[in-house]
Amino acid sequence: MKLQEYHAKRLLLAQGLPVPEYSVAATADEARTAADAYLKAGAGKVVIKAQVLVGGRGKAGGVKLAGSADEAQTVATQILGMDIKGTTVQRVLVAPAADIAAEYYLACVLDRAARKVLLMGSAEGGVEIEVVAAERPDSIKQLHAHPLLGLLDHQARRMAYALGLGTNHLKEFVTIAKGLYATMIANDADLVEINPLAIVNTPAGAQLQCLDAKITIDDSALERHPDVEAMRDIAEEDPVDVQAREQGLSFIRLDGNIGCMVNGAGLAMTTMDLIKRAGGEPANFLDIGGGAKHDKVAAAMALILADMNVKAILVNIFGGIARGDEVAHGLVEARRAQSRHVPMVVRIVGTNSEEAARILAEAGDPDLQTAATLDEAVERAVAAAIQSAVAA
Ligand code: GDP
Ligand code: MN
Repeated sequence: MKLQEYHAKRLLLAQGLPVPEYSVAATADEARTAADAYLKAGAGKVVIKAQVLVGGRGKAGGVKLAGSADEAQTVATQILGMDIKGTTVQRVLVAPAADIAAEYYLACVLDRAARKVLLMGSAEGGVEIEVVAAERPDSIKQLHAHPLLGLLDHQARRMAYALGLGTNHLKEFVTIAKGLYATMIANDADLVEINPLAIVNTPAGAQLQCLDAKITIDDSALERHPDVEAMRDIAEEDPVDVQAREQGLSFIRLDGNIGCMVNGAGLAMTTMDLIKRAGGEPANFLDIGGGAKHDKVAAAMALILADMNVKAILVNIFGGIARGDEVAHGLVEARRAQSRHVPMVVRIVGTNSEEAARILAEAGDPDLQTAATLDEAVERAVAAAIQSAVAA
């Protein structure tokens, strides 16, 4: 789950990181009020930033400066409602504008292959880091945090030197790098990224500050962080993902045309592999989970059919705790309720499979075939998809 900048900054502040003060506004009037307060308190300018879960807001015109309350209101009016890469801006962040002397990039990311947290830094911060990474990979410095002891002071210092940060900011940098690591661990994040980490001129002298923040939380860990889960921005999520999560289904949409309904992640992956081997393309990964009841089956069916690319459906259920008859009932019910008719091949083995077969046969649905083995089911589903694609 990705966090909006204003939420990400809250998590950074909780670990004691230097984040300039900010407010969040949903209307231009609110933005004006916030800007006015900062300007009266001595800020020369304010920065107004679109809060959307996509990068490159600056380039898209979603980050602007304003020198007066009037100007802040005008700028906020422009940014609110703006479309950035397909997302409509609903909120802006308002903050005293920083007087930036230099911009760096610093991030902690989970390196799954190494099974460690990777600290990445670059002296070429501010711009899109993907471009820097592609064109000048050498300018991105990397080191792994110690797997047991975390990010050590000497590692953070090594990164500071690699980025060419003067000794002036060494202590601050070490605190910040360790703070990023702490934010990552405390929240079970996959990514904590600051771009730019800027040297900012302040009345108290030049200081390192986190001007932007991007955090991605491991979805599987959200149960442990209800406060973070509450930061979820449903408006920016794919409705299909929202629906799947509400129903407790793991669903990932793919490019093919064979919808898959399977119980168990391993079986789902095997089913997808077999579809590919038989010359077909799966339209999704879908694990309806253990012990699925008929309402869950119906919800899963609705998700599959919502994808207009789906030309055939393959149901592969290994009845254990999930009972075959319960699933069969769900399938029949879902077939009756569905708006779109797509050929379906069902293979149910295990608990109550005979009863399942009887229920499916009694349904008298001409587009519903059953198969005794997985190979047979896959073969039929691939053939059905080809046939209905030709017919369409
Ligand atoms: P992004 O484009 O979505 O990554 O948004 P950022 O928050 O990183 O802003 C993009 C750029 O706007 C930064 O690299 C800065 O150059 C500039 N910017 C952001 N905040 C401020 C600020 O407070 N003062 C000034 N002068 N520039 C800022
Ligand atoms: Mn940025």
